[in-house]
Amino acid sequence: MKIPVDRITDSPRALDFQATAAWWQERVAADAELASGLADPVRVHVSVHRMGDDLYLDGALEGALDLVCGRCLSRYRQPIRERFRLVLEPAGSRVPADPEGAELLASSGLHLSDELDTGWYRGSEIRLDRFVQEVIALLFPVQPLCREDCRGLCPRCGIDRNTDSCSCEEVRTSSPFAVLETLRDRLR
Ligand SMILES: [Zn+2]
Ligand SMILES: [Zn+2]
Repeated sequence: MKIPVDRITDSPRALDFQATAAWWQERVAADAELASGLADPVRVHVSVHRMGDDLYLDGALEGALDLVCGRCLSRYRQPIRERFRLVLEPAGSRVPADPEGAELLASSGLHLSDELDTGWYRGSEIRLDRFVQEVIALLFPVQPLCREDCRGLCPRCGIDRNTDSCSCEEVRTSSPFAVLETLRDRLR
C-alpha cells in the first residue's frame, strides 16, 4: 500500500488497495485469534491531496471480519465499513520518542499519532500498511456475538440453544469456564 509522495498534488487523487487475509495473518501472526479474523479481502479507498507540505488522506475501508461468537462458539461474519482521515506533516528532523515509532518512520516513511488521525511522513514514499492494520484491529469487537440475542450453549449438555433445545434444568453457573468444561467432557 504505497503512495509516492512526489505524485501528490493539490488536486485529490484516488487510490485503491486491498488488504488480503494473507497480508493480515502475516502482520498479526503473534495473536492467533486476531490472525484468523479477517475475511478476504478488505478494500481500502484513499483520496490524497496536499496543501503546502501537508498531506491529506481521506478514505474508507470495507470488508468483513470472520469471528467466533463468545456465547455459542460458532463462526460468523461481520461486515466492516470505516471512514478515516489522516493529516501528515513532514517529519523534518524530528525523531519519534519510542523505538518502534522511529523504526516505522524509517521503514514506512510514516509516523502515526495515538489517535491515528495525524502523523509525520518522510522520504519519497509512504507505506500505509501499518495504518490500515491499526484501523482494522480497532474494529474487532471486545465481545464478539453472532447476534445480539444469541442464546449460547447449554452449560449442562453443551447444545447450541439457538438451534436446539434440551431438557436440562437451568443452572446458575458462576464460572465462565463451565461451558467449555462441558464441551470438553462431551468431546471425550
Ligand atoms: Zn452466538
Ligand atoms: Zn442442556
